[in-house]
Amino acid sequence: MIEAGDGVGGSRPGTEGAVTEAPDGQGGPSFRGPLVVRTRSELAAALARAPRPLGLVPTMGWLHAGQRSLMVRARAESATVAVSIFVNPRQFGSPSDLERYPRSEARDLAICAEEGVDLVWAPGVEDVYPAGFDTSVRVGAVARPLEGAARPGHFEGVATVVAVLLGAIRPDRAYFGMKDAQQLRVIARMATDLALATVVPCPTVREPDGLAMSSRNVHLAPDERAAAAVLHRALLAGRALRDAGEGDAETIRTAVREVLATEPLANVDYVSLADDGSLEELDRVDGPALLSLAVRFGATRLIDNLAV
Ligand code: AMP
Repeated sequence: MIEAGDGVGGSRPGTEGAVTEAPDGQGGPSFRGPLVVRTRSELAAALARAPRPLGLVPTMGWLHAGQRSLMVRARAESATVAVSIFVNPRQFGSPSDLERYPRSEARDLAICAEEGVDLVWAPGVEDVYPAGFDTSVRVGAVARPLEGAARPGHFEGVATVVAVLLGAIRPDRAYFGMKDAQQLRVIARMATDLALATVVPCPTVREPDGLAMSSRNVHLAPDERAAAAVLHRALLAGRALRDAGEGDAETIRTAVREVLATEPLANVDYVSLADDGSLEELDRVDGPALLSLAVRFGATRLIDNLAV
């Protein structure tokens, strides 16, 4: 745990509910929540006092059980757990998408406190991209298909912000969710190529009906939310076909589309069955592959995937 002291310049949030009584009966709070820093210099001062190894969980906030699972994993493996909370304007295709992204810092800090996070970097846009910032990170082939094709510039924005986060925080390990499977591959490629950090993939956390947890789920109307359970059902149908010995990729993709077609509110962007490493579309499946999809429910676009 990092103690706030001279030169750190951070603050601790009021985290009612997360503060517990000391187990020794002395009555004082035993945990005061994470140290919250904003500027790069506050961050550097806090990091100088942080015990290693340091695990980082990068997030855009509006935290849910998915990101919590990353914090739990980081906590188990790190002397210091840092979380970044930054809604990165560079990775949004439209101003309205950025505008409607849900935000609540007080709620996020309470969750970080519950998960035993030591340090939160919650920078402003000008702290991440100071005046004169003029660098962009573009990852090659793995960033091109699927989300890269559907959302031009998205992965360049993601890679650039993650390069800043990893460069400024210099974690030993950085934790990312398999829910965003292509993002995970893009970041792992970059982190290896630029010698930035070890990337740790973490399994997707789902709602009881199979819907992958996502900050975007909050935008679903009740009927859309119910309909969205079809995504996991469709992926499971595809995987079951593969498990039964089907090797023709298009047959599997078609079976997934057929399940999605049973749900009138689902508008399919793509269904992909691709090589697990390169994400190139397959004709035949004879090794590890990624079954993934992007589907719109009203104005909300959801992605999900399963390894097959
Ligand atoms: P976000 O705040 O949406 O950028 O997500 C922060 C991190 O949490 C990313 O590495 C995501 O892949 C991961 N994540 C998001 N949703 C889930 C989930 N349902 N299960 C596991 N990890 C997730």
